[in-house]
Amino acid sequence: MSQTETHTFQAEIQQVLDIVIHSLYTDREIFVRELVSNAADACEKLRFVQSGGTTAVLQPDVAPSIRITADEAAGTLTIADTGIGMTRDELVENLGTIAHSGTRKFLQAVGEARKADAQLIGQFGVGFYSAFMVASKVTVRTRSGNADSTGWQWTSAGAGGYTIEPAGELPRGTEIVLELKDDAKDFAKTAEIERIVKRYSNFVTFPIEVGGTRMNTVQAIWTRPKSEVTEEEYQEFYKYVGHDAEAPLFRLHFSADAPISIKAILFVPARNFETLGMNRVDSEVNLHCRKVLIEPKAKGLFPDWLRFLKGVVDSEDLPLNVSRERMQDSDLLRKLNRALTNRFLKFLADEAEKQPEAYDRFFREYHRFLKEGVLSDQDHRDGLAKLLRFESSATELGKTTSLAEYVKRMPADQTEIGFLLATGRETALASPYYEVFKARGHEVLLVTEPIDEFVLDRLHEFDGKKIVAAEKAELSVPDAEASEGQLSEPEATGLAEWLKTTLGEAVGEVRVSKRLVGSPAVVLEGDRFMTASMKRTLKAMQRDTSGFPESAPEFEINPRHSLVARLEKTRHSDPELAAKAAAQLLDNARLSAGLMEDPRAMLGRINELLERVLSK
Ligand code: ADP
Ligand code: MG
Repeated sequence: MSQTETHTFQAEIQQVLDIVIHSLYTDREIFVRELVSNAADACEKLRFVQSGGTTAVLQPDVAPSIRITADEAAGTLTIADTGIGMTRDELVENLGTIAHSGTRKFLQAVGEARKADAQLIGQFGVGFYSAFMVASKVTVRTRSGNADSTGWQWTSAGAGGYTIEPAGELPRGTEIVLELKDDAKDFAKTAEIERIVKRYSNFVTFPIEVGGTRMNTVQAIWTRPKSEVTEEEYQEFYKYVGHDAEAPLFRLHFSADAPISIKAILFVPARNFETLGMNRVDSEVNLHCRKVLIEPKAKGLFPDWLRFLKGVVDSEDLPLNVSRERMQDSDLLRKLNRALTNRFLKFLADEAEKQPEAYDRFFREYHRFLKEGVLSDQDHRDGLAKLLRFESSATELGKTTSLAEYVKRMPADQTEIGFLLATGRETALASPYYEVFKARGHEVLLVTEPIDEFVLDRLHEFDGKKIVAAEKAELSVPDAEASEGQLSEPEATGLAEWLKTTLGEAVGEVRVSKRLVGSPAVVLEGDRFMTASMKRTLKAMQRDTSGFPESAPEFEINPRHSLVARLEKTRHSDPELAAKAAAQLLDNARLSAGLMEDPRAMLGRINELLERVLSK
């Protein structure tokens, strides 16, 4: 009498199998990862039982390991382990009867996506069935680690259930033989299996041999305490995960238990190709669960603006068996993302303190990313603000300051943080907008890139101090002794009124300035919320400029400036000449503000004025 029993799969398992067999054609290689992970889990369980020391284990001298054999001639792939194995009841339960908690969710997810994704298989704890993506028949021979166990064989062609029969004296552990489908014969090639094992299972703790060659030689150093990892190991590891010959700028190796278990090593590469004007880079942080690769270059682990990071994140809260379904759980991913980002920001703040020079190098290479974060990521804006560095009127050429340092230097009468965009330091310090700051002994942040204005504007305040564009600052020059020939208040007001009439549409409001020292006049953007250059940048970015109606700038004159005093006289004696001079004064101010689109337009007038001067 045959001892072979025939069983049908539990209905939901059969459904999973139908999907696996009939609709998964991409990413099929992940079945290797799944079967190797199961083998590694079985080895782990054996080690656990053995280390307990109370239960006798079958064949105690056989160390846990994994052996893979590809037989191209026979068209088979065999994955064998010397792990815990399975009893007959376990075989029936684990590979056919019990619907894992993940099974239903897998079916749901596949149903919702209307597209089966092979990656889902492992994530929902139904990894074993991925074998049927590539195999027309799967044979499992297994013998439990219980001292009194015997061997069993389980066979299935997917559809129509499985058979089970005794297999006598087997070595401890499990051997899975896949008879590969015609379109999956590549998986019977040793080189192909080597490649796949290296990709997904390179950090598995137990030795994996493919065709007799040991595969996983790189260690999962992130699971070890920092103090036990050598510099050479870090270097080798970085070369492996970073694909980068140059040493990284920074390295963060940490582990955390709450609010979520994380073991991670993150690297900041020395160079970033995006900064060099190349295409947008993708995060190269791989997500592992207990050393097994779950997702290379995992999406959503970090905010976009940290896409320059490389390394490994391992979280046991995504266990391979029970909870891998939670990988799909965006809540979990969000938790990971938040914990990782906060930790990395704290790390950067610490480095800035401990190694300011290294931090400077980092900042020069990666400032754009941090600024992108300020603009796009409300949640981390405060943390990022502390990391920003700017040149300022108080720093030496090429040196920078943090906002915190700036605030510390603020004199008692200064309430706001001022910033000024200019093409360079010299220009900024010569700018009419800077004059009032200089006169009051207030520091100004000097920025050269348009994005900086938006970043500072978005921060809005730091340490309770408002951040404002220099030209928006409501400051006045401290009362100086009246200079000789200075316009009286009524004279100045009269001149301002005349200028408004004379210049007409070219200007908005004309005022007597309280902020100018050495410049005769200045133009100010009328928009309360934007500087002129911000407006220009936004315009350049949008084809539809209807949101930014052309507006004439406000115009302020300096009553203490001799040129302005002369203009006041001339408008009475020679109104026609005064009108030309006024137009030129406005153009000069616009030029100084960078608002002159085509300075050639004023050449005619300059020449005319020159002629008048020379003919005197
Ligand atoms: P998961 O690994 O998420 O539990 P799988 O479908 O991959 O789901 O595996 C189902 C179960 O089958 C495992 O939980 C384990 O109990 C058993 N199993 C699979 N492969 C092996 C193996 N090589 N050795 C021992 N048990 C195994
Ligand atoms: Mg599994």
